[in-house]
Amino acid sequence: MHIDIITCLPKLLKGPFSDSILKRAQDKQLVSIDIHDLRDYSANKHRAIDDYAFGGGAGMVMMVEPIDRCISHLKGIRKYDEVIYMSPDGDLLTQSVANHLSLSQNLIMLCGHYKGVDERVREHLITREISIGDYVLSGGELAAAVLSDSIIRLIPGVLSDESSAMTDSFQDGLVAPPVYTRPASYKGWNVPEILLSGHDAKVEKWRHEKAVERTKTRRPGLFQGDE
Ligand code: SAH
Repeated sequence: MHIDIITCLPKLLKGPFSDSILKRAQDKQLVSIDIHDLRDYSANKHRAIDDYAFGGGAGMVMMVEPIDRCISHLKGIRKYDEVIYMSPDGDLLTQSVANHLSLSQNLIMLCGHYKGVDERVREHLITREISIGDYVLSGGELAAAVLSDSIIRLIPGVLSDESSAMTDSFQDGLVAPPVYTRPASYKGWNVPEILLSGHDAKVEKWRHEKAVERTKTRRPGLFQGDE
């Protein structure tokens, strides 16, 4: 998979991709990520990428031209499954959205800033809009990092134990059961006996029951299929 992220703040994106699972995925060549500085595509001598909003009002708007130039340049190199705009009013990112996008070959993610992008970008250049939740961030960079992480960890071979992504919350319509590690007793806080029994079938049954119990109390909507 290849991901191109378009941003006016490339430094913000360095951290999330330079450590742990996302770094290993790149080292193993399971994914490649290019971060593009939108200012490199500005036609303006001051490298401007935003301007005042037509009609007035507070806040700058990201101009259509640099974004169009950058996306056109990338489309000249490869074909994209989706050109995604990170947006608070986009489709909510869920595990099923991540599962679906993890099957892509090439993705573009566009990060907005200020008041967002000129609407013509959304009308003519974007194929999908994704929100990471009903709150407003200052920019799309952290959202693009969250989206990338949720997708990349699903690519076969990225997680050392492949089955572990499959037993995560939401994959089977349930949240995950509680987990414990050594010591078995700490300050008198004990691990459930069943987990120490060595009886795989019983452990599996207990985990399933706990997952169902937790889903009912924490995410009842998952049972009704509305989450
Ligand atoms: N004025 C806009 C918000 C702009 S916030 C509005 O009210 O909808 C600036 C940028 O941050 C957006 O263009 C978008 O790229 C990003 N952003 C903010 N909140 C986000 C969210 N919940 N999910 C994804 N991207 C978000």
